[in-house]
Amino acid sequence: MDPFVYRSQAVRVVFGDGTLDRLGEEVDLLSIRRALVLTTAGHEAQGRALADRLKDRFAGVFPGAVMHTPLAVTEQALRFASEVKADGVIALGGGSTIGLGKAIGVRTGLPQIAIPTTYAGSEMTPILGETADGVKTTRSDPAIAPKTVIYDVALTLSLPPRLVAVSGLNAMAHAVEALYARDRNPVISLMAEEAIRAMATALPAVVSGPSDREARANALYGAWLCGLCLGSVGVALHHKLCHVLGGAFNLPHAETHAIVLPHALRYNAGAVPDAINRMTRIFAGRDPADSLYDLGRQMQIPASLREIGMPQDGIARAVDLTFANPYWNPRPLERGAIEALIAHAWAGEPPGN
Ligand code: NAD
Repeated sequence: MDPFVYRSQAVRVVFGDGTLDRLGEEVDLLSIRRALVLTTAGHEAQGRALADRLKDRFAGVFPGAVMHTPLAVTEQALRFASEVKADGVIALGGGSTIGLGKAIGVRTGLPQIAIPTTYAGSEMTPILGETADGVKTTRSDPAIAPKTVIYDVALTLSLPPRLVAVSGLNAMAHAVEALYARDRNPVISLMAEEAIRAMATALPAVVSGPSDREARANALYGAWLCGLCLGSVGVALHHKLCHVLGGAFNLPHAETHAIVLPHALRYNAGAVPDAINRMTRIFAGRDPADSLYDLGRQMQIPASLREIGMPQDGIARAVDLTFANPYWNPRPLERGAIEALIAHAWAGEPPGN
């Protein structure tokens, strides 16, 4: 066995169907007396509805969360937090809202409760990506992570099948790369394997039967484990490509991950036999990269970067950007093979060799 370092995370996770009923208790456990609730504009009503549960511990709603955590929004939210004398933050929503909670938490030291409503996984990580003047910077610090995460299956029932599929494949990418991360360890590998297994079964079941609460619960369980993987070990080529493509061509985050994953896995496959063996077991003996590609087709999400807005003449630029500041990867980066990978993903073809 290879030597390893394992670091556990000090986060309290409350999981189930209807767990939002426990919000008051969780707020009390963190000694929060005036909770600021964060949402996107579209979810303001759900945020306001938390007032009934929080009673006199409700300080107000800031419904301004948007993608990529722009500094200007964080500053506005900080002013509001100070006006309403907030002593704790509750982020109700997807990765964008949870990102704003982290941005406030790390600047003020206020305890955060995250209540995720997508499968993005940000709630389980000490990572914060922020944008200022169009430039995105990412940092990692234990002070960024929420103290408590409440996973409530009921809150995910409104996630439409397409979002389930892309958000779920985005989450799976965290577990897939955890299996071959440079700092992988046996505990996180177990969780990654379990996460991929749960997602591979639950996602198509939710897409074909959106009211199947058990499938929804399994998908959210898988998403928790995927987030835990992302928060515990490093990432590699797949995440690098998605950061490059999202940043350079303003492509939608989850869709980009969903499209690129089979191609990035195929690129690395020969260098990561243990990860491939584990995933081959999950996919009943089939090749994992082909299986992930087929899963996307089964759930009828876009197959190609072309469909989500990437120009064909952007391929060469994407290759340059990937090489400009590369992440560690189990297989060395080869320009021709990376270009072929992006070209396959752009065209929506099955992963190449
Ligand atoms: P998001 O938060 O922007 O939500 C996507 C869309 O889903 C929004 O339109 C939102 O209104 C809608 N939505 C959310 N919950 C819903 C529900 N239950 N029902 C119906 N619609 C719902 O996007 P996301 O995919 O959750 O997160 C992506 C963002 O999170 C990116 O900015 C990404 O960089 C960040 N992220 C950060 C980390 C980290 O560790 N820092 C990890 C993963 C993702």
